[in-house]
Formats: sequence, structure tokens, C-alpha cells
Amino acid sequence: MPSPDLVGLDARHISAWFGEHKVLQDVSLHMRAGEVTALIGPSGCGKSTFLRILNRMHELIPSASLAGEVLLAGEDLYARDRRLTEARRQVGMVFQKPNPFPTMSIYDNVLAGLKLTGLKASRDTKDDLVEECLSKAGLWKEVRDRLRSPGGALSGGQQQRLCIARSLAIKPKVLLMDEPCSALDPTSTRRIEQTIRELVDEVTIVIVTHNMQQAARVSDRCAFFLAEAGTPGGIVEHGLTDAMFSRPQDQRTSDYVNGRF
Ligand code: ADP
Ligand code: MG
Repeated sequence: MPSPDLVGLDARHISAWFGEHKVLQDVSLHMRAGEVTALIGPSGCGKSTFLRILNRMHELIPSASLAGEVLLAGEDLYARDRRLTEARRQVGMVFQKPNPFPTMSIYDNVLAGLKLTGLKASRDTKDDLVEECLSKAGLWKEVRDRLRSPGGALSGGQQQRLCIARSLAIKPKVLLMDEPCSALDPTSTRRIEQTIRELVDEVTIVIVTHNMQQAARVSDRCAFFLAEAGTPGGIVEHGLTDAMFSRPQDQRTSDYVNGRF
């Protein structure tokens, strides 16, 4: 059953620059509560930049600037009095390359985000939270007997699931995933895809993927990004994944989803 606490994310008229170089032009996208939205499109068209704007990581890059707004459950994520850590807590991120703290225990890895965001958990709650998050990430059964082993000792797929567990521990409203499976083997990939479909009942998910089959398997809706020669990236077409794959409205979408570029 989908959670009643699910919220959507609304990007409105987003433009982005690195120095003078404009990389996104007027991108608007509504990412619906309780759905997986996939961002697809060729390399360099601004998908990762767009994703970083959705949790205020873009502003960590010194040359970066942006225009437009991002609304989380209708509230401006960039409001002047809104704390950065709060924005990051509500919108979690999982990266392409699994990045657990390698020498830190599996247990402490799950809880690592709590410290960073200033959240605290009591000892009993910690044990429960670790079990809950590892279970949701599909890793509990494999690691329950070695929670004190270092995160770096796990396989790549397990490390990525540990990173998902770490993101979940801070109870985000939205989970952003930037090509979370591209460093993984097919079996690990399928397990993460399954986890994504299970998680979407409690957290809204936005995933960047290069893999069209993956987009078709995991997403409810897709947005096709493109940066045509010398122009900043934008969305060519977005909509229900099934419709976009079977009846694309734009020739460029059709060419892309059919692997013609
Ligand atoms: P995608 O994820 O779709 O491959 P990116 O968002 O990574 O695209 O990149 C979009 C554009 O922004 C590219 O032209 C890329 O070179 C540029 N870019 C990305 N990150 C930076 C950065 N930190 N500094 C300068 N330019 C960047
Ligand atoms: Mg990218």
C-alpha cells in the first residue's frame, strides 16, 4: 500500500550554468508522488546536473549557478530561510559508483547520514533502524551476521544496496539515483531494480539511466533530455513510460529509445 506521506517534486523553469556555459535551458518537470520517474538521454545533456539541482548539490560546485525553482510538496526547496541540510535530508541521493565509507562498519555506514544531518537516534532505535533500512534495501539477510564488518568488504552490488540503506536511514521524501546500476553486473542490477519498485510505495524516486530496458522496467514515467549541437539541454518529451516507448510523439525520442543514437 502506498504511504499517505508520499510527496511530489516540481522543477519549474530550471536553467543551469557552469561559469558562462549554459547546460540546461528552461526545464520544467513534475515528478509525481509515489512514482519512479526516469531521466533518459545521451551523455552530456544535463541529467546529472538536473538531479543535483533537485537536492541542492549543484550549488556546491563553485562555478555553478541556476535559475528557476524546485518545489517539494509545494514548498520552495531554495527558500532563503530553508536550511541546506534539511533540503538534503528530504531529498536523498545514490550515486553511480557505490560509495560506502570503506573502513566503517556496515552498521555505522547505515547510520552515517544521521550525523551529517544532525539527526540522532537512541541505541535501541539504532538497531531497529539499521535492520529496517537494510531490509528495505534487500541486504539484511546477507549481512545480519556481520554488521561489524567494513562496508568496503562487500561486493559492488551489496555496497550499492548499503548506500541505498544509508539514504533511507534519514527518511527522505524523495530518493534521487544517478545511474545506480551502471557499475554493477546484471544480477545485482536486477536486484536493485526490484528494490526500487518496492521502495516507491514509501518514497518518490527519480532515476537517471542510460539503459532503456531498465527505464522500461522500473519507471512509471520518463523524461527524455537532449542537448542538440551547441545548445543547452532540455526535455524533448515526457510522459508515461509505456506510451513513450510504444508511441513516442517526437522523432528524436523515437530514434533515441530505439537505439539509433
Ligand atoms: P549527463 O548527466 O546527462 O551526462 P551532465 O549533467 O553531467 O550530463 O553534464 C551536462 C553538461 O555540463 C556537460 O556539458 C558537462 O560537460 C557540463 N558539466 C557537468 N559538470 C560540470 C562541472 N562540474 N563543471 C563544468 N561543467 C560541467
Ligand atoms: Mg550523468
